[in-house]
Amino acid sequence: MSESGAGGQPSGGSLSSYVAELYDTCGQRKAMGQSSPEFARPHFFLLRTFLAENDLLVILNTKRCRYQCAFCRLPAKSIRSWVPDSDVLAQFRFVATEVRHALSVVDRVTLSNEGSVLDESTLGGGALREIMSAIGAMRRVRRIDLESRLGFVRPDWLRRLRAEVPRATLGVLTGFETLNEHIRDEVLVKRETLAEFLAGLDNVALAGAALTAHVLFKPDPQMSDNAAGIEAMETIQFLTAECGGRDIELTIRLNPMYRAAGSSWAAAADATAGYAPPRLTDVIRVAEQAAKAGIRVYIGLSAEGLAGDGGTYRAREDYSPALIKRVKLFNDGPGAGIGRADSAAARVPSLVS
Ligand code: SF4
Repeated sequence: MSESGAGGQPSGGSLSSYVAELYDTCGQRKAMGQSSPEFARPHFFLLRTFLAENDLLVILNTKRCRYQCAFCRLPAKSIRSWVPDSDVLAQFRFVATEVRHALSVVDRVTLSNEGSVLDESTLGGGALREIMSAIGAMRRVRRIDLESRLGFVRPDWLRRLRAEVPRATLGVLTGFETLNEHIRDEVLVKRETLAEFLAGLDNVALAGAALTAHVLFKPDPQMSDNAAGIEAMETIQFLTAECGGRDIELTIRLNPMYRAAGSSWAAAADATAGYAPPRLTDVIRVAEQAAKAGIRVYIGLSAEGLAGDGGTYRAREDYSPALIKRVKLFNDGPGAGIGRADSAAARVPSLVS
């Protein structure tokens, strides 16, 4: 089989075992977390469903993120030196070639570089603009999400990028994680104050862009299961109100916290008596409550190939494959189609556990 699996040669054996192997190596179970072997290849790509749409996720291989958030090991995948625009463009060309027979069904594209694609000290603006133009050639695409910290959002630049794909909504995908300032500053070491986040949100609004925000479920290893649910709901309420007040379309990606092997967060978790990863049942309950209140929510199950043993929801007593099925039904089901967040944060119910 080829490096990516796609387009590989039959490896012998039955047709069904060949297809099963392709399904596992190129589909949702595709291995994640490895660094790209060369400049001209991305770290990862996957054609997946996201909120009942076909989303092409591309994780570019660029200079590494300059931040060192305590819970995150993603920057370690990338090198410290500059990756020329020509290599970045070759990465996207490689992905387009690999998924060529499915390009006409791609509804949306998510562009990441395990950091901030809007940080021009890691990814060249010229390369990003050319990739946007290439996405414009995928005529079914109606949404493009650029992953970035909000501090790198410049409204004029976003508007120029958006002009490359006028039929699509441009979104910024960002890790908000939590409303709790102690957790942001001391536990996650985000180096992004709430004031800085809100200033970035003003720029998202000025650019006329949408927002998708990662919310971490149980971001503090010292949190109880009950406190985690309450904190997640308060965070979702906050984002709903702030985006509603700025007329920004909001999507929440609710991610059960995983213990990233080798991170200082993992060391703190290991040193915490009684630490336990989140219960998926609790994550689903919060997501369902938010969806019921009209908020667009997606439950992110991936540990990005970086979690150590026992570091995810799978280690909890409630875990079963049936829960995964429930999450998939939720992500692709009626809750997936819920539209704009509005300013009525009061409509979000308190979590009663
Ligand atoms: S969370 Fe984002 S900003 Fe922080 S280290 Fe990871 S990739 Fe960089």
